[in-house]
Amino acid sequence: MAYKVTMRFNLLRALAPVFTAVSCTLLSSCGLAVMMSSDPAPVLTPVQPAPLAKNVQYVAPTIKAPTLVNPSSSLSSDISGNTQISWSRGNPNQKYIALTFDDGPVTSNTTRLLDMLKRRNIKATFYVLGNRVQNNPSLVKRMVAEGHELGNHTWTHGKLTNMSDTKVRWELDKNRDAIVAATGIKPRTMRPPYGALSTRQRNWIFKEYGYPTILWDVDPEDWKKPGISVVKDRILSKTRNGSIILLHDLHSVSVDAVPSTVDALLRKGYKFVTVSQLIALSK
Ligand SMILES: [Zn+2]
Repeated sequence: MAYKVTMRFNLLRALAPVFTAVSCTLLSSCGLAVMMSSDPAPVLTPVQPAPLAKNVQYVAPTIKAPTLVNPSSSLSSDISGNTQISWSRGNPNQKYIALTFDDGPVTSNTTRLLDMLKRRNIKATFYVLGNRVQNNPSLVKRMVAEGHELGNHTWTHGKLTNMSDTKVRWELDKNRDAIVAATGIKPRTMRPPYGALSTRQRNWIFKEYGYPTILWDVDPEDWKKPGISVVKDRILSKTRNGSIILLHDLHSVSVDAVPSTVDALLRKGYKFVTVSQLIALSK
């Protein structure tokens, strides 16, 4: 009998934690469960509320400022009277600047970029490659529909200074034909790959095609992928009235740098226009 009592007692002791655990799950407080255990009641240390910090003031949550929007303009894009053959900057007396993107379109990057620009009412200029235009006609159609300008950046992105005039013509014609096939619009300006074009070439291209050669005065070297903040800082430190900013929508880091960079430029009072508008403003 004594043996049986001991066994029962031991069984109860063994099962006590199980009862406690089950009780804890069933009851909102474990206080009662602890009392039901055969174990001696634990010594409970009362929990002290955390003391109120002194000199702590209410801090308003950060609210994201609304995106700045580029002012709408009805500026002329007519550069037919222009006689200047090369441009790397527009009018230094006005706060108009041109954002240019080379070597696209590339579906993912360019689509994202167009969304960012649309949100800010910014019109840019895209120096597209003919073979990429042929592969992405809907993207270049969208560019034109949203007020952007397309420029001739050749078909293969070869170095034009190493080519015969016949080959250069072929590069420019193929690009122009692809843009016209996709959009019905002819490019008005050209940008040579690597900025490489001799004075002689610039002259005959201007006479034959009417294309001024468009270079730049702000080059953040985004194609070296130095990181978003470096691209942004370089652009902000170099941009001035009339600047032509060179970027490449070929690289995702360049596109990633666009929102904070253009927002900072808008805050500085710059207004974005297309390259043709910038030239027309400089007559
Ligand atoms: Zn290029």
